[in-house]
Amino acid sequence: MSAPRVVIVGGGFGGLFATRALAGVAVNVVLIDKRNYHLFRPMLYQVATGLLSADEIAVPLRSIVSRQRNVEVLQDEVTAIDSAQRRIRLKQHQLPYDFLILATGIQYNYFGHDDWRRVAPGLESLDDADLIRGKVLTAFERAEETAALDHANSEEIQRLLTFVLVGAGTVGIEMASTLAEMSRLALTHDFRHIDPRSARILLYEAAPRVLPTFPEVLSAKALRHLENLGVKVYTNTRVTGVDEGGIVADGKRVPARTVLWGAGVLASPAGR
Ligand SMILES: Cc1cc2nc3c(=O)[nH]c(=O)nc-3n(C[C@H](O)[C@H](O)[C@H](O)COP(=O)(O)OP(=O)(O)OC[C@H]3O[C@@H](n4cnc5c(N)ncnc54)[C@H](O)[C@@H]3O)c2cc1C
Repeated sequence: MSAPRVVIVGGGFGGLFATRALAGVAVNVVLIDKRNYHLFRPMLYQVATGLLSADEIAVPLRSIVSRQRNVEVLQDEVTAIDSAQRRIRLKQHQLPYDFLILATGIQYNYFGHDDWRRVAPGLESLDDADLIRGKVLTAFERAEETAALDHANSEEIQRLLTFVLVGAGTVGIEMASTLAEMSRLALTHDFRHIDPRSARILLYEAAPRVLPTFPEVLSAKALRHLENLGVKVYTNTRVTGVDEGGIVADGKRVPARTVLWGAGVLASPAGR
């Protein structure tokens, strides 16, 4: 009788820990991910701000499990699960399983405003990190050009140098701190017409404190750290509109050319 087949979907932390736990067990593991690499997400925001390159946080799944003889890796996307028949559907194939472990992570929750995703990307993947890095650096470039060639247009310069982060969970505060460090330290000497230190970094949170799911003492510490870096934090403030020109927060328009999203998550589509 052949060993049972365990299909693990998702090569993130969850999927990889499950794979490793099955080392030496008499099962055949099929590890499936739509990407062929594991992404170390805690360092993603450093790729988004240009402090690290993509290959420093992405490792091929095949090389991670190459020594574990009972594992094979397939790169594909799970599009449906038939639990009655015990099979998963991939883009073009089907695969039967004896046991299924689903570890497909999360996606950002735009609370019914999926059109905001286009304007205000969240940070989940390397593509998002690339997009955000491009948006942030382009905003500084456009501000420099406007200041050089159209310096009377101070409103547009301020819009370009205003960076809004929606959601003060871990991703929001890490992004805000990194943007502050970037503008206050890393870019200070690179421009002739703008002072990157004048960039405004605004962080909005609907809950009464930053890091609302953490102990209060840590929220207070994080708030002090953000304020020392010059980040302006608005708690108890709900963002109700997002478009190319900025946001609406508690009914008030805030002009900004760069809006980034970190407010709440949902299970991935496969998980749901
Ligand atoms: C910017 C950022 C910073 C973070 N910082 C920290 C931190 O400092 N400390 C901390 O503890 N946590 C941090 N986290 C959270 C942490 O990264 C997550 O909790 C963790 O990655 C969750 O692991 P997971 O295995 O559940 O999902 P993931 O790591 O998201 O892995 C899910 C995998 O499933 C794959 N997948 C999804 N759908 C399908 C499908 N249909 N078919 C095939 N494959 C699919 C994806 O490609 C992905 O590889 C951070 C997250 C982010 C985004």
